[in-house]
Amino acid sequence: QGGSTVSITVVGASGDLAKKKIFPALFALYYEDCLPEHFTVFGYARSKMSDEELRNMISLTLTCRIDQRENCSDKMEQFLKRCFYQSGQYNSEEGFSELDRKLKEKENGYDCEAHANTYHQAGKVPNRLFYLSIPPNIFVDVVRSASRTASSQDGWTRFIVEKPFGRDSESSGELTRNLKKYLAEEQIFRIDHYLGKELVENLSVLRFSNLVFEPLWSRNYIRNVQLIFSEDFGTEGRGGYFDNYGIIRDIMQNHLLQILALFAMETPVSLDAEDIRNEKVKVLRSMRQLRLEDVVVGQYKGHSKGGKTYPAYVDDPTVPSGSITPTFAAAALFIDNARWDGVPFLMKAGKALHTRRAEIRVQFRRVPGNLYGRRRRSVGGGGTTATRELEKATNELVLRVQPDEAIYLKINSKVPGLGMRLDSSDLNLLYSERYPAEIPDAYERLLLDAIEGERRLFIRSDELDAAWAIFTPVLADLEANKVAPELYPYGSRGPVGAHYLAANHNVRWGDIS
Ligand code: NAP
Repeated sequence: QGGSTVSITVVGASGDLAKKKIFPALFALYYEDCLPEHFTVFGYARSKMSDEELRNMISLTLTCRIDQRENCSDKMEQFLKRCFYQSGQYNSEEGFSELDRKLKEKENGYDCEAHANTYHQAGKVPNRLFYLSIPPNIFVDVVRSASRTASSQDGWTRFIVEKPFGRDSESSGELTRNLKKYLAEEQIFRIDHYLGKELVENLSVLRFSNLVFEPLWSRNYIRNVQLIFSEDFGTEGRGGYFDNYGIIRDIMQNHLLQILALFAMETPVSLDAEDIRNEKVKVLRSMRQLRLEDVVVGQYKGHSKGGKTYPAYVDDPTVPSGSITPTFAAAALFIDNARWDGVPFLMKAGKALHTRRAEIRVQFRRVPGNLYGRRRRSVGGGGTTATRELEKATNELVLRVQPDEAIYLKINSKVPGLGMRLDSSDLNLLYSERYPAEIPDAYERLLLDAIEGERRLFIRSDELDAAWAIFTPVLADLEANKVAPELYPYGSRGPVGAHYLAANHNVRWGDIS
């Protein structure tokens, strides 16, 4: 018959990420007819469950987007019929052999009785995707067992691996070496879900397909770049995992650094994955290693407001008492190449802050000899006050990754009227107004890419090495010196140290104005 089948096995199917993100993303792809015609979904974990129990568990988290309401429940039912479960240990070749047997049944269409229209797949090339949605200490066990006993014989076998990819250069290198004992690099899909976010994808489009931006994209016109991530909640009982990593490893070394690399890379030869990843590696390797004096760390403390009490990080029962793990960090990074020499790239990431957001802010240089910035000349109604205010305002481009995706450019313009009053206003592309359809979740894009073999948004091992090389020395110093984090109240804007750090580099955080 020709063609191919794809089996997607979610390893750790009983877990939080599988329920919250992976199964819903697979269903959304199915709804949109993006999955190959002949596909099967398997859950694998130690928990005992029947196929029916897995389906019940998954069904609780499937949703249809506003534009997908038609036939939603029929579609869910059809999707769930394609979901199966295999229980087993993560280091068990028997468990994965049993999975292999069941996968073959589906691939060969032996089980056609129950779903006569679904499984007529004999003669097709069987492809297999494993999604490792499990704690990192068992990644290698699973890859060893699954690759030996449940790899596709004729088709491709790919593994999506979730962060954390180690906790420093050494452990990350060891993980890579261990994975590569069983897999080739092109079989490993290291996921960073920030790379699947709509705005991050649009960063390159904005830059490389609009003449007005690329010529300005350098030290000649850009004063500083800020990468900001904040959550308005703390660890809330999930601090056990976090405490071992801290905010620098959890957010900065991966999500924010990936965005920075895409932002700052040179123009790739093409949109091919290898061309893009080559440029990302180059820019990462041009970055200076972070030093202790370029970093500020913080940790949230308990706080009462409006009769409500918010807990400290160390009040979380899953966090060891006296922990000095940072829940906030700010850092100043530099790229020592011709394009970016001397431009501070400031990162800020924190939990339990006053707002939830992720954004990239680009502050441009002042207009040289700005006519409207001359203090002495009083021009019309606004007079000196208006011109003085304007002196401060430079252009700023903001890409808001979440929530309320938007791209806006702050410009100076004249307030309508007979006088000459100037105002800083926005050219604003608000996604919810321009593109009312709900934006697909990042996991949908990334799962689809992995199925299609598109590696552009996945992290290659040399990229990972370069990323760890920037952060490993400072992480080691923070730990060796037991640097105490500056405490900030839950729900605040974070430690004041972040402002001093920015000021040292002549920068004002754009999100504070
Ligand atoms: P999880 O719920 O803690 O674990 C997933 C499954 O792994 C569990 O259902 C459990 O299944 C098994 N498991 C848990 N602890 C284990 C242990 N110590 N030894 C062996 N098996 C264990 O994890 P998750 O939140 O779904 O996250 C999965 C992966 O994605 C992790 O690597 C995490 O760092 C990463 N990640 C998660 C999120 C998120 O939003 N949750 C976001 C980004 C990345 P059984 O007991 O049934 O075998």
